[in-house]
Amino acid sequence: MSEAFHYPLRMGRLILLGMEEIIGRNGVHAALNLASHSEYINNYPPASSERSLPFKTISELHEALEQAYGPRGGRGVALRTGRAVFAYGLREYGSQLGLTEMAFRLLPLPTKLRVGGKALAELFNHQTDQVVRLEETEKSLLWHIERCPLCWERHSEDPVCHLAVGLLEESLYWLSGGKIFNVEETQCIARGDPTCTICIEKTPIT
Ligand SMILES: [Zn+2]
Repeated sequence: MSEAFHYPLRMGRLILLGMEEIIGRNGVHAALNLASHSEYINNYPPASSERSLPFKTISELHEALEQAYGPRGGRGVALRTGRAVFAYGLREYGSQLGLTEMAFRLLPLPTKLRVGGKALAELFNHQTDQVVRLEETEKSLLWHIERCPLCWERHSEDPVCHLAVGLLEESLYWLSGGKIFNVEETQCIARGDPTCTICIEKTPIT
């Protein structure tokens, strides 16, 4: 039942705004047409916490980027969209998450990653029907998406949840004050894996 799980309208709006920053308004319109969601053309969802945007819609919109730009190009657009979405999301949710407070900013980096990751996971778990579980190993933080809107009802040979990777990359860049981390989706439900898992190496590359 794809209708059973939803994102708040506000997050759908953030995704479209983020996308618009990368491919422009016409690009978003083309993607909406490809996804058969022309009802959102010049009519983005409102900034409301009402949880009524189906996972299926998000998956179709995300997939439309691959249809429009090819698998490689679409991946790039989705990654960059994810980064832009984080910037918009921080404005909407940053103070609520406590991530913009001085006390948080003064924490050492490993603690910041842990606390920031937990706050972000809780945001998804509380405000959306997406389910995220964090796991920490010696070298990595594992962001397990147990119920994922990005690849909802999709089948693919390779991981496809690039928007989530971009979002996490940008959140890490921001949390660490400009460091780059290795972030990779290592498992994907679309490929038959039990979760969409994004592996974050705790030690930055630069
Ligand atoms: Zn996924």
